[in-house]
Amino acid sequence: MSRDDAGTLRPHPGLRVHTNRNLRLSSIRAMGFDMDHTLAVYNTENFNRLCFELAAERLVIERGYPPEVRSVPWDPDAAIRGLVVDKKLGTILKIDAHGHLTRVRHGDRFLDKDERRRGYPRGRIRIGNARYRVFDTLFDLPEGCLYSGIVALAEKGLDLGVSWRTLYDDIRGTVDTLHADGTLKTRIIADLGRYFLKDPDLVATLERLRSGGRRLFLLTNSEADYTAAVMNHLVGGAPGSWEDLFDLVVCFARKPGFFVARGKGEPIPAGEYDLMPNRSGHCFNGGDAFFLEKAIGHSGDEILYFGDHTFGDILRSKKSVGWRTAMIVPEVAEEADALWPLRREQRELLAVEEHLEDLVLERDRLAELDQDNGDRGADLDRRMGEALGRRARLQRKVRGALNPHWESVFREGRAASRFGRQIMEFSCIYTARVSNLLRYPADKFFSRPLEVLPHDRWILSDR
Ligand code: IMP
Ligand code: MG
Repeated sequence: MSRDDAGTLRPHPGLRVHTNRNLRLSSIRAMGFDMDHTLAVYNTENFNRLCFELAAERLVIERGYPPEVRSVPWDPDAAIRGLVVDKKLGTILKIDAHGHLTRVRHGDRFLDKDERRRGYPRGRIRIGNARYRVFDTLFDLPEGCLYSGIVALAEKGLDLGVSWRTLYDDIRGTVDTLHADGTLKTRIIADLGRYFLKDPDLVATLERLRSGGRRLFLLTNSEADYTAAVMNHLVGGAPGSWEDLFDLVVCFARKPGFFVARGKGEPIPAGEYDLMPNRSGHCFNGGDAFFLEKAIGHSGDEILYFGDHTFGDILRSKKSVGWRTAMIVPEVAEEADALWPLRREQRELLAVEEHLEDLVLERDRLAELDQDNGDRGADLDRRMGEALGRRARLQRKVRGALNPHWESVFREGRAASRFGRQIMEFSCIYTARVSNLLRYPADKFFSRPLEVLPHDRWILSDR
């Protein structure tokens, strides 16, 4: 079962389901799935690059930006989920679990400590404000690359003639239109193999989860024709047969509004779409959670919903209608794959950090004695120098495996990132892809691991 030499029956960390809150699958009577970036795994590199290039072109052609905007280089690492755009200062921010700004990028460079303090004297920001925008989904990442790239051009002297705020709003508006007017979707439907990664275990997973009378539904913001084309591509078989995997299909759902609005879904006319023939009359456009719960015959915490959008799928479904939530986070597998080969170095790094704590204590004690420490002092300095050198070497190695600009999506130094904390707070379980559920019994009790507080860390390290 293990991908590498994990040496246990547990799947490799990248294939595991991780638990924040106890979840008994035997009490889940209905399971719902978002489509894009949840059931449908995009080839993010190909999709994001397409979106980036189309948006750069439109900024020039339709919004009058200088042609130099076309020369902004595509950098797939330019942005990660959880980053925050500050439209006022033209920056992109990484924030830790406690709301502190830890990295600030302006154009192609990161601000140093003093510049950061001048821009953000409080060291924290309040995000619920039109000045900021958070990258909650993988769909948002091309905007980060475009924004940094154009800000960098402006810093080198290109006259944009607009404020940082207008620049971001124009990028956002352009990407929004590319999604909504069918430009992106026409290109994707014409070459589905290029933009999606087929998961060979997807159908088996859905069939297994449906066993024992559990009901399954698809709930997506995507339009019916796009949903039909994508699901048909991913599931295969006879055209349109994918809809038999579900008891209910809701397209064009307008989440997060779906979880608070009131209204019934519109049945999709039978035969309107070849790839979604709606043979059993269970395919709808729009509606709300009340309508959905009635149609599926279960409500509240009998429902487990799988989604990728921190706010639109996970937070709203949990807070507004009390569903249990499973968040799909492909970055879990990406980072696990990158860091697993470095597990020895990471443990060594923890040990060096603890050793340094001891050395600092020893140094402080010696200083308190306030006498000539002679050889002891010199020996201590030497040992500290060595430990600091080892720490720096190990840190460089671990960082080298992560995003070159932002490092870990989930962490910032020794703390969780804001995104990491949101996953822990909002989702009951999380995993890199839906088919990882196939590695567990269909009625698994996911129990949360021990939460270690600073005062009881000795449980782990016996110190
Ligand atoms: P879901 O994740 O299956 O609910 O669907 C996401 C849908 O939202 C896809 O059809 C995307 O094309 C669409 N989408 C993502 N970002 C934007 C945007 O900025 N504006 C409009 N639609 C978007
Ligand atoms: Mg989605």
